[in-house]
Order: sequence, then C-alpha cells, then structure tokens
Amino acid sequence: MSCRDACTPAAICFDLAFGGARPSIVMDTCTGCGDCVQACPADAIQLCAREVAHEP
Ligand code: SF4
Repeated sequence: MSCRDACTPAAICFDLAFGGARPSIVMDTCTGCGDCVQACPADAIQLCAREVAHEP
C-alpha cells in the first residue's frame, strides 16, 4: 500500500478481495503526478496518456 500512502490527493484506495487487496484509482482525483509510480516496490504502476475530448 505504498502507493496509497504516497498519494497526496488520496486518489488510491484498496478494495479487500479474496486472497488480498487490490488498488483502484479515482480518476477525477488523480493529478497524474507519478508519486505512486516511484513509491511502488513492485514496479507495478505505469502512467499512460489518455485522450481528452476537446469542446469545439
Ligand atoms: S499519479 Fe499522483 S495523484 Fe494519481 S494516483 Fe498516483 S500519486 Fe495519486
């Protein structure tokens, strides 16, 4: 849960599931700062650009 602890805006939560817990990200809260990427000891997080629709 290092990523959750590193996330200043608290965009990461862990859902308990059978056999462990899995992180989920609240995309509207995530700033894309990358602090969770640096914090993950398993190197399991990647940031990817996503397309944003622009108003004409
Ligand atoms: S990129 Fe930044 S804001 Fe988004 S989940 Fe990771 S630490 Fe939180």
